[in-house]
Amino acid sequence: MNIILLGPPGAGKGTQARRLVDERGMVQLSTGDMLRAAKSSGTEMGNRVAEVMARGDLVTDEIVIGLIEERLAGDTGGGVIFDGFPRTLAQADALEALLAKTGSAIDTAIEMEVDDEALVHRIVNRAKEAAAAGEPVRADDNAESLKVRLLAYYKQTSPLIGYYHAKGKLTSVDGLGEIDAVAQDIAAVLDGL
Ligand code: ADP
Repeated sequence: MNIILLGPPGAGKGTQARRLVDERGMVQLSTGDMLRAAKSSGTEMGNRVAEVMARGDLVTDEIVIGLIEERLAGDTGGGVIFDGFPRTLAQADALEALLAKTGSAIDTAIEMEVDDEALVHRIVNRAKEAAAAGEPVRADDNAESLKVRLLAYYKQTSPLIGYYHAKGKLTSVDGLGEIDAVAQDIAAVLDGL
């Protein structure tokens, strides 16, 4: 089973993806995590990526599609949760083509609905909590970058909601509830597939 978690920054995609990994043995492919790893590699590509991410803009399709292609060549055992990918229509088309090569496809894209005000609160709190715990604060978890990230979401990523809807592959869950409640809603979607 291959699913996409779709939603704005701060919607809780990473949190829910990690639960699915623990509970269902699925593999989480997070382009954000992969890019943060590339960033700390200190290579020229890593430095370029770091700048774009800190600003809140999207990294090029070519880079992220390359990362996903590499990972899909590995073991994807119990199915894949795509977290933060695809983020553009070009990425969605590329993903479909990559999966088709091995005779697989996306089963559903789960849209996590959260309003903007809640997103800003969550992200500002995440940054505060990390700082208080002495953990690294993400370079893009600040008010200025968040504005750019939200704009990128509405302009480039939210059209994917219509795209998967038109393919009959869109499901939506309320992302505003407690973590457990959202997890239950997602579980119900997966069990109904
Ligand atoms: P969030 O969902 O909270 O914005 P992510 O960790 O998914 O966080 O992404 C952080 C940043 O990494 C994005 O703002 C963007 O710069 C870059 N990024 C992640 N995934 C992609 C992607 N699929 N395409 C382009 N850029 C991406």
